[in-house]
Amino acid sequence: MSTQSYNPFETAQHQFDHVADLLDLGQATRDLLRWPMREYHFSIPVRMDDGSVHIYRGFRVQHNDARGPGKGGIRFHPMETIDTVRALAVWMTWKCAVVDIPLGGSKGGVVCDPHNMSQREVEQLCRGWVRQVSRNVGPVLDVPAPDVMTNPQNMLWMLDEYEVIHGGKYPGFITGKPLSIGGSQGRKEATGYGVIFTVREALKDLKLKPQGVTASVQGFGNVAQYAVELLQQIGGTVVCVSSWDQGAKCAFSFRKKSGVSVEELRTITDPFGGIDRGKAQDLGYEVLQEDAWIEQDVDMLIPAALENQITRDNVGRIGKGVKLIAEAANGPTTSEADVALCARNMFVIPDFLANAGGVTCSYFEQVQSNMNYYWNKDEVFGKLDTTMTSAYHAVRETANKRKLTMREAAYVISISRVAQACKDRGWV
Ligand code: NAD
Repeated sequence: MSTQSYNPFETAQHQFDHVADLLDLGQATRDLLRWPMREYHFSIPVRMDDGSVHIYRGFRVQHNDARGPGKGGIRFHPMETIDTVRALAVWMTWKCAVVDIPLGGSKGGVVCDPHNMSQREVEQLCRGWVRQVSRNVGPVLDVPAPDVMTNPQNMLWMLDEYEVIHGGKYPGFITGKPLSIGGSQGRKEATGYGVIFTVREALKDLKLKPQGVTASVQGFGNVAQYAVELLQQIGGTVVCVSSWDQGAKCAFSFRKKSGVSVEELRTITDPFGGIDRGKAQDLGYEVLQEDAWIEQDVDMLIPAALENQITRDNVGRIGKGVKLIAEAANGPTTSEADVALCARNMFVIPDFLANAGGVTCSYFEQVQSNMNYYWNKDEVFGKLDTTMTSAYHAVRETANKRKLTMREAAYVISISRVAQACKDRGWV
């Protein structure tokens, strides 16, 4: 789904190979973990409102389920590719392992553009996706969730289709459901808040006070909005945001030195996190080039939009004062850019640690759905904070002890846990 020629699956494999060497993993373990265990590629026929039938391409990739049922979102995007889905499934495996929840890694996708579809067409697409893989996913097999351009309503249609096919109530089949039907309190905030729980701990390590810390954020979708909200609650200021303008069909950045207002921006944000450039200007924001968010003179960058956004070409433009990058998006940094960041001694909270709050809360939702007993918001946020904070410190400790970067340390922890589970099961 990248706008550039980088292949995220190659990035994921490259990252794995590096850590496999650090851990001196055996050949069978490498061969197993380098590739997904299973992939489903399918066609989904949808009768469109005009009576024609459109065939959409769908995917579900199950990377590894040694530690528990697969877990991972479903993305709807016109430029979705199998390699993006593969990479994201791999990262889900590491993400579940780094926060030590008993789940494996999966991901799904459909090549489509929901912007150009009616609600009825999207519903048919959701139901069609489930029909194609209904025997291969499920509460004890592989549990989907929302991701880019999919939402709680989409999850409910998918759940309904699954329950019709299987003849029972299985609320643990899918997460990210609406609150009124089996969703968890706090799910919509969980990923963004989780990012900031790790940022809060990193600021302590960097000896920076959250009060007065400044940030520039790419994206203003689900993850970014709640990251900005919590960062501001703990005293930080977000001075620049970048978003997609659906009307102009391009991204742009916009800035307010005194800090952006989440409430104000939400009034001009479409359901997909897109913002109209003209409306931002009307609200007094200074409109800048698409990728100006990266060169702002701030303390931290929070890429929270797409993969492959910090690249060899733009890494040198990162502002001199930036001390911390919290990778809220999946795979926002290419391998080459990562090398440049290491050379600069940048403190990076790697994606699969920083954004693990989403899957952690999805796991909480799955537990609650399976019990049919639900927790209140404070309970959810308390458990989320505990999980994210202890995962952050485990990674930090490993990084210090083994003289590794945060990304390497997070991989060392995750890959060791998954490799151990495969070994204990007698797979390798
Ligand atoms: P979203 O669809 O809600 O938001 C995406 C945002 O990115 C939108 O604001 C969109 O306008 C913006 N955007 C798109 N193209 C852009 C571009 N070229 N430049 C600048 N902005 C652009 O998605 P989300 O759920 O917030 O997910 C964002 C990232 O976080 C993705 O990488 C996703 O895989 C990852 N993630 C999401 C979750 C979750 O719970 N939603 C969990 C973990 C990881």
